[in-house]
Amino acid sequence: MPIASGHDLAGPRPRRTRSTKAIPAEIDPALTDKALAIHARLCPVYGCPIPYFHSLDPLSELVSSLLSHRTRNAESGRAFKALRAHYPDWEAMLTAPVGEIEATIAGVTWPELKAPRLQAILATVRARHGSLTLDFLRDMTVDEARAWLEAIPGVGPKTSAAVLSFSVLRMPALPVDSHHHRVAQRTGLIGPRIDVGPAHPLLRAQLPADWSAQALYDNHEVLMLHGQHVCHHRNPACGRCVLLDLCPEGQARTGGGGTIREP
Ligand code: SF4
Repeated sequence: MPIASGHDLAGPRPRRTRSTKAIPAEIDPALTDKALAIHARLCPVYGCPIPYFHSLDPLSELVSSLLSHRTRNAESGRAFKALRAHYPDWEAMLTAPVGEIEATIAGVTWPELKAPRLQAILATVRARHGSLTLDFLRDMTVDEARAWLEAIPGVGPKTSAAVLSFSVLRMPALPVDSHHHRVAQRTGLIGPRIDVGPAHPLLRAQLPADWSAQALYDNHEVLMLHGQHVCHHRNPACGRCVLLDLCPEGQARTGGGGTIREP
């Protein structure tokens, strides 16, 4: 099926991980220690290594990531399946009436914006590469591949990292979603004014340069899951959080003793 290219990932492939270009000039060793301590605490809780939830080719992963923006996983998953059922390949979606795509993905947030954006992004990929595939990214470094993707209007650091990490490329990139970002801020890995986009190179740089794709995926997943299940946007459950002694926000909320202070 043209949509899913199905790479053979079994064979060992030497992979350049990243250049020093995206690494902040100064990495505080204390933050690296804290990032590693947080990873070590959360991994047993959420069960590392965490199975990958997708095995899509990178172009399909890009479509899936765009659908998922500000949308619940169940809805974006339904929309993705609907697109695959409706169109034999992404080329067919590229030339389809935009209103038809909008109707097919009606369950996601902002289908009227996402439908034309999906077509524009597919058109950009074809114009820049000559065909509708992103499989060639596997021969780039992570930084090169991210730069290629982020040069597409509408593709930011979270989407580029998701494409490289979640797709069958399984490249060592670190996506940061809103849950991951919230836990990182509250624990002090990043400052309170660092937005999700700029958080990507900072959080990646705190982790060892030679970490595997699986290790980085685990790091993203455990922080994201912790944000979903414990470190809620409202009323984080600091009293039962395994990170409490590492977390300035939790210490402030509990008075340092694990008991949540009433607001
Ligand atoms: S201690 Fe509280 S604020 Fe800190 S990570 Fe845990 S739940 Fe979030």
